[in-house]
Amino acid sequence: MDKDQDQTDSPLDDRHFSTAGDTPMREDAFALSDEEKIKIIEGKFSEIMHTLGLDLTDDSLKGTPKRVAKMYVKEIFGGLNPEKAPTSSDFDNKYKYTEMLVEKDITVYSTCEHHFLPIVGKAHVAYFSNGHVIGLSKMNRIVDYYAKRPQVQERMTMQVVKHLQKILGTDDVACVIDAKHLCVNSRGIRDIQSSTVTSEFGGKFKDPTVKQEFLDYIVMKLEMLKNVPNFPYRCRKEGIRKT
Ligand SMILES: [Zn+2]
Repeated sequence: MDKDQDQTDSPLDDRHFSTAGDTPMREDAFALSDEEKIKIIEGKFSEIMHTLGLDLTDDSLKGTPKRVAKMYVKEIFGGLNPEKAPTSSDFDNKYKYTEMLVEKDITVYSTCEHHFLPIVGKAHVAYFSNGHVIGLSKMNRIVDYYAKRPQVQERMTMQVVKHLQKILGTDDVACVIDAKHLCVNSRGIRDIQSSTVTSEFGGKFKDPTVKQEFLDYIVMKLEMLKNVPNFPYRCRKEGIRKT
């Protein structure tokens, strides 16, 4: 065994897989109000800091337990509450656009549920309309909603796809997430370069040609579009000219 390896970790301690598609939650997850939860977490976090030997009367530290408690409940774990799910309003596809729609480079800020350290990366989401479309920012909101939970990346990817399939009424949805896990980058193996890629392909996206088209869009840079004949008006408007 590598002598640098943390021998206090059991093999299970570094697992990064989940066994179910849903975030494991108790029945009584919302029996307490947000304010009650903040109060309890503030007390428990004070205990953690006290146990570590920190002086909680210090000006710099005394507000930390409350700050962390509020951040957990209201911000970084706010997506645990189904009431915060993005509304499912959609629009008729009045443009009759039938090609693949891709929303790429959606910023992901999440938290690894095994270490409570950040996961930071990009999500790329695509779908084919079966008659309904949603606002483009809705896809960012859906990613953000599932990111704001203690997460494993595989589950987050599947949750985004499942949610979009439900509100769009089609299986033809795909998501790829490429993210850095600070539990890998900043501790343990301390590999600052590595990132994790997960994907979920539904319906038409299981077809290798369609899947490849989506993956090509993800890596495509706007500059490359200069060479595409008759490229859509939006890029012409942004000053991209075919040379
Ligand atoms: Zn982790």
